[in-house]
Amino acid sequence: IPVITTQDLTKVYRSRDGRETTALDGVGLHVREGEVYGVLGRSGAGKSTLIRCVNLLERPTSGTVTVDGRDLTALAGRGPRAGAELRRARTRIGMVFQHFNLLSSRTVRANVELPLEILGLTRRERERKALELLDLVGLADKARSYPAQLSGGQKQRVGIARALAGDPKVLLSDEATSALDPGTTRSVLQLLRDLNRQLGLTILLITHEMEVVKAVCDSAALMREGRITESGTVPELLATP
Ligand code: ADP
Ligand code: ADP
Repeated sequence: IPVITTQDLTKVYRSRDGRETTALDGVGLHVREGEVYGVLGRSGAGKSTLIRCVNLLERPTSGTVTVDGRDLTALAGRGPRAGAELRRARTRIGMVFQHFNLLSSRTVRANVELPLEILGLTRRERERKALELLDLVGLADKARSYPAQLSGGQKQRVGIARALAGDPKVLLSDEATSALDPGTTRSVLQLLRDLNRQLGLTILLITHEMEVVKAVCDSAALMREGRITESGTVPELLATP
């Protein structure tokens, strides 16, 4: 069963001087439950736009996005009254960023607690959940540190713990390892793989590196100029001449 589906997804950016850029041109994506799915493409291919449409950070121009059986585009189209429902739907989607997006004034634990505040958990529940998540990503001993005291790999582990706070069904990763050195990249990719296996978490990741796809993905799509040019399991794609 697909957990993330896009149908004929199109995004056209219009600049103030009237110029148009077609960032997505009829993208159909089918990510099955429990798989790690990679979208591979060069800079400008439309990968970020795609992931931002799945997360509803970006409104598609046309087409649909369905996550876990919910048509998010229909929800977003209903205007402000859909707000609460949309926010709830989005807590089911975790997001990991290239540059971590941690708040430097907050401790590691308080960063992980952020989504839990939005969900309305009590202080005690938030603390328990944040410590549990930090333990899961191997950073239990850094709960009281600040982001500036951590290595890049540790910061991304905090980003992953925060993304898991809302018990998401799917995790979206926007070039999560692009700012990291090769050794750290391997350990962060291994963590994503472990979370996929242990929690049955579905992961959609975008990357410009074939090595990342080979290291962790079950399936992948190649993107070029806003279109998916090939897709399939990683062994299938590697066998294609
Ligand atoms: P990728 O993530 O693969 O590098 P993007 O989705 O960032 O690709 O970009 C796809 C295309 O859309 C590019 O031509 C880019 O310049 C354009 N684009 C992205 N975001 C915007 C925006 N906010 N306004 C206008 N054009 C944009
Ligand atoms: P990771 O693979 O988790 O990113 P690194 O190999 O980058 O870890 O760093 C190794 C160790 O060095 C870490 O466990 C961390 O404690 C320490 N370290 C790295 N950078 C810093 C820093 N800026 N401040 C304090 N400790 C650091």
